[in-house]
Amino acid sequence: MAIEKQPSCDDPVEPALLPVAIALQRMQESVSVITDTDLLALRDSLDRVLAEDLKSSIQVPAYTNSAMDGYAINSGDLPSGNNEKTLKVLDTAWAGKPTDVKLKAGETVRIMTGGMMPVGSDTVVIQEHVRVEGDQITIDGTTAAGRNVRQAGEDINVGDTVLPRGTLINPAELGLIASLGIDQVHVVRRPVVAFFSTGDELRALETHAGKPLGPGEIYDSNRHTLFALLTRLNVELIDLGVVADTEEATRAAVIEASERADLVITSGGVSAGQADFVSKTIEALGELTFWKLAMRPGRPLACGVVNGCRFFGLPGNPVAVMVTFYEFVQPTLKMMMGCINTSSPLFTVKSATHIRKVPGRIEYQRGIVSTSETGEQTVTTTGKQGAGRLSSMCLANCIIVLPAECDGINPGDPVQVQPFFGLV
Ligand code: AMP
Ligand code: MG
Repeated sequence: MAIEKQPSCDDPVEPALLPVAIALQRMQESVSVITDTDLLALRDSLDRVLAEDLKSSIQVPAYTNSAMDGYAINSGDLPSGNNEKTLKVLDTAWAGKPTDVKLKAGETVRIMTGGMMPVGSDTVVIQEHVRVEGDQITIDGTTAAGRNVRQAGEDINVGDTVLPRGTLINPAELGLIASLGIDQVHVVRRPVVAFFSTGDELRALETHAGKPLGPGEIYDSNRHTLFALLTRLNVELIDLGVVADTEEATRAAVIEASERADLVITSGGVSAGQADFVSKTIEALGELTFWKLAMRPGRPLACGVVNGCRFFGLPGNPVAVMVTFYEFVQPTLKMMMGCINTSSPLFTVKSATHIRKVPGRIEYQRGIVSTSETGEQTVTTTGKQGAGRLSSMCLANCIIVLPAECDGINPGDPVQVQPFFGLV
């Protein structure tokens, strides 16, 4: 008699699988933003999220100044047509050392970039465009009135919202806040994230580093990958170690984690195997929102709520951990922090090779974007895409996102990629 096959990870199309976009939307609708705030010294606010609109109490630039090294003049002194005009140089205005000369017709002041425009001037003729003879310069009429001058308040005015709440403070924001004379900011409290690994085969580095593994044992790497991913997001961490594949141990760990954290992440034990207790435990103690997704890797991903604490049971395979983290956990954490921008950038580049894919599930393949001799960017996969091959993540510099309906890629076809790299 033929074996009646059950749905599995091997099936490309499985009607019960939830599309990723719907899963993300459900999650978005149910996330609550953290309302507690911290008042931090400016430098401590790097990589944190602004909890309030940041308004300026000053105008930037604070005073009208020169954008170039040159001569401050009154535009009334600009000659017409092909004529030239000679002006008397009375003083020099340095950045930080203004002149108190008040310009009259026929007069000028030498001025440096950032120097405050003297009273009576409105235009700077750059030093390369004048003829200097003793304490006199000669200009022509080619400089437009008002050129090379930065007006007070042209960048920011008093009362302007310079950065809206929900802005992630990166180096540019940190500098901008400093430029307003502000040295303390209100930011959203860091989410507390508890995480643990499940699996009887796992040996923790804390106790087994350097020791040989017994038959069937592996070192626990997921907890370290999660540590790194979470550290980059600047959240507060609670590492709960390795939890055995039993109902009691899983239950105890889930309860402890949900009592101490805003969000819990586990790895392993979310499939339908006999040693998989994570989804059952979430369901028993709280609510399981979804756990089978139309994606590869990451088909089993248990998402739910226990004790008001958001829960992600990630698959055990190391690549699946990273992919589900990037696609689900990272946007969720950013939403919890009230970030305006929660999505990762997607770029379209040409595929350099064939990529095999059957329609049914969205696939996240490891890719390498490189620039050809002609300057065109193309992407190739890192080769075999097994979800256990963490080395493929190290080789890759991007994830190639292939939509569910895609039935394979030919060389030259456009594909979407999520880059791992960026400016600091
Ligand atoms: P599971 O989802 O528990 O069935 O695990 C799937 C695969 O991922 C198995 O081969 C596990 O041994 C492996 N795995 C699970 N947890 C970890 C971990 N923390 N570190 C490395 N590999 C793991
Ligand atoms: Mg397991």
